[in-house]
Amino acid sequence: MAYKFAKRMNNIKASEIRELLKLTQRPEVISFAGGLPAPELFPVQEVKEVAAEVIEEQGTNALQYAPTEGYDPLREKIAKRMEKFGVNVTKNNILMLSGGQQGLDFSGKIFLDKGDVVLCESPTYLGAINAFKAYEPNFVEIPTDDNGMIIEELEKIIETTDKVKLIYVIPDFQNPSGRTWSVERRKKLVEVANKHDIVIVEDNPYGELRFEGELPPAIKHFDTEGRVVYLGSFSKTFCPGFRLGWACADEKLLNKYILVKQGADLQTNTTAQMILNKFLDKYDLDEHIEKIKEVYKKRRDLMINTMKEAFPKEVKFTYPEGGLFTWAILPEHINARKLAEKAIENNVAFVPGGSFFPNGGNENTMRLNYSNMTEDRIVEGIKRLGKAIKEMM
Ligand code: PMP
Repeated sequence: MAYKFAKRMNNIKASEIRELLKLTQRPEVISFAGGLPAPELFPVQEVKEVAAEVIEEQGTNALQYAPTEGYDPLREKIAKRMEKFGVNVTKNNILMLSGGQQGLDFSGKIFLDKGDVVLCESPTYLGAINAFKAYEPNFVEIPTDDNGMIIEELEKIIETTDKVKLIYVIPDFQNPSGRTWSVERRKKLVEVANKHDIVIVEDNPYGELRFEGELPPAIKHFDTEGRVVYLGSFSKTFCPGFRLGWACADEKLLNKYILVKQGADLQTNTTAQMILNKFLDKYDLDEHIEKIKEVYKKRRDLMINTMKEAFPKEVKFTYPEGGLFTWAILPEHINARKLAEKAIENNVAFVPGGSFFPNGGNENTMRLNYSNMTEDRIVEGIKRLGKAIKEMM
């Protein structure tokens, strides 16, 4: 039949990463393509035990509908955890979401009309580009360096248009670049947003996975006017399968997210919230995060050190202080999509970086994930990749 789809569907295309990930399912492929946590670190036994307790003790509640805002004991714990990032809030500022990803979709739904401008880092998270695209905005990419968005460039752009509705940023161990914003830039961003009355969406699924250095305050920490929506996630610190994330915002703004949540899926999975809450009661999540960090730090070190040895010296790459990704910039004449095809013939996968620029270009870039492969596979995979790059030089 000739389906008459809504116009917005013209903007929504299959994610290249999803297509690529299908190829990487083959066991012989060494994949740096996804953003998957290491499955061997999931607390399977502990979850098995607390899940049984939840069903045993509160089975009917766990299986029943529940308030849209989320499970109060869990909201309280999250509010408390936000102190780590210098954010002082109560459970009334927390809305449980089906992953941080849902918060991106909701932000688009709440703020964006067709033709509105979203300002984002260049590059930025592909999943956010796709979520916002449904609301038909224009993206304006702001240049970045090792300290985050270049604020002077941001101001220049803001002064040329009155259509800016939203600034979207990932200030900690950014996906895809692995970079972290300096404290100064965080503060300045809020100053600029205050001056021009723009909302900031701060997306932070990786901030707790810091291997070294000081934990900087969240951008939300500098928010005195209720203009920052902070999106958090348990996907990388606990497990992504539960799909548990949250939005933290001033109550007046959070109410809009709650309204939209009602229309989207009524509430976040109650059983999963209760299991996580019990896990937090019985176990020390921070201790668990320490274990994750130890493994990822080793993998990061191995990846970076092998890249130094195996990649031609013309290839530049970032040094992430945490999180899951590093980002490489190849000489301009090397197309990373072509390189990816060549690499997959040698059973190595990565994501070509061009996908992370909403307005295209930058085809000589690549995102490499180090959390999901064992150490020997990281070394082998990077060596093969180095060889493929050299052949294209
Ligand atoms: N934001 C960023 C920057 C991400 O990398 C991801 C997941 N890869 C998400 C949001 C969504 O995470 P989740 O929905 O699993 O919380």
